[in-house]
Amino acid sequence: MPRRLTGFTPSGDLHLGNYIGAIAPIVAAQQVTDTVVFISDLHALTLEHDPEQVRRRTLEFATLLLAAGADPDRCLFFVQSHVPQHTELHYLLECTTGYGEAQRMIQFKEKSQRGGPVRLSLLTYPVLMAADILLYDADEVPVGDDQSQHLELARDVAERFNGRYGPTFTVPKAVMPPVAARVMDLAAPDRKMSKSVPSPTGVLRLLDEPQVLRRKIMRAVTDTGTEVVYDPEGKPGVSNLLTILAACTGDTPQRAAERFDRYGVLKEAVADAVVATLAPVRERYLELADDPGYVHSALRDGAERARDLAAEKIRQAKSAIGLLPT
Ligand code: ATP
Ligand code: MG
Repeated sequence: MPRRLTGFTPSGDLHLGNYIGAIAPIVAAQQVTDTVVFISDLHALTLEHDPEQVRRRTLEFATLLLAAGADPDRCLFFVQSHVPQHTELHYLLECTTGYGEAQRMIQFKEKSQRGGPVRLSLLTYPVLMAADILLYDADEVPVGDDQSQHLELARDVAERFNGRYGPTFTVPKAVMPPVAARVMDLAAPDRKMSKSVPSPTGVLRLLDEPQVLRRKIMRAVTDTGTEVVYDPEGKPGVSNLLTILAACTGDTPQRAAERFDRYGVLKEAVADAVVATLAPVRERYLELADDPGYVHSALRDGAERARDLAAEKIRQAKSAIGLLPT
């Protein structure tokens, strides 16, 4: 059974795009695929951060993922910093990665040019990501466009390490999420819904109250004309609403389009479908957050299982690269 790994960085607020593009597929796949899910809190330290906020969000993300149906009995579920082998392997892989290779990463170029001091960890972030993946011999990593270059680096590093020091790591494959499941910003449908771009009206947060979700959807940007058709190029706003409706109701956007002849009615239906999808997640979140014992114990158990797996891989990697066993 292939092992599939996904990490969530606790920066910003989880939104409907994350739910449709990443969380719902994990919940479905954990029944049939060996699934690894973790909160990548170390990655949140690569940019300016508020310690209290990272800590709060790490717990919030874990609670939300459990509320959305991630089942710690069916997937390996933990917080990255609870498994010290991630940083241990990070160092070994830094010794396998070129400085130029890291510098060439487009995301590093973009994020380092935003102004303000640049942390060294921003440069080596893709190496830590490679460690996250290789530590568990993941076969498949779902990645969007923004992460595909980093996954390519992880593959290169795995192949190089295996070639130089002997077979140690599984070389991971990128799996692309379906294009139709890319949710766009409601206020600016030419860019994706994102947790790092502040868009108070365009992002449907998983913890938004139902009436807030409704208001944002009713105010979503639509396109000129009145016809409801699925045409992402010509009608990005309406097509995004159809994508969302289809994802929430298990339909296709094209078929969903046939049921509507006016924008207003479509928006009502989208609002109903989104609220029906997210309200139970929010309710479950509030229950779990009210009594966080379950979440903490799930994270403790997950970290213990992850450390066991990771310790064996680290032992192999250290021995292969030339370190004396204890
Ligand atoms: P950031 O802006 O910080 O990159 P993000 O919203 O893109 O935040 P990530 O942590 O990069 O979130 O991604 C978590 C998961 O959610 C990934 O699997 C990613 O492919 C998926 N995802 C993110 N945004 C969307 C979206 N708008 N539509 C569908 N899937 C998405
Ligand atoms: Mg992203």
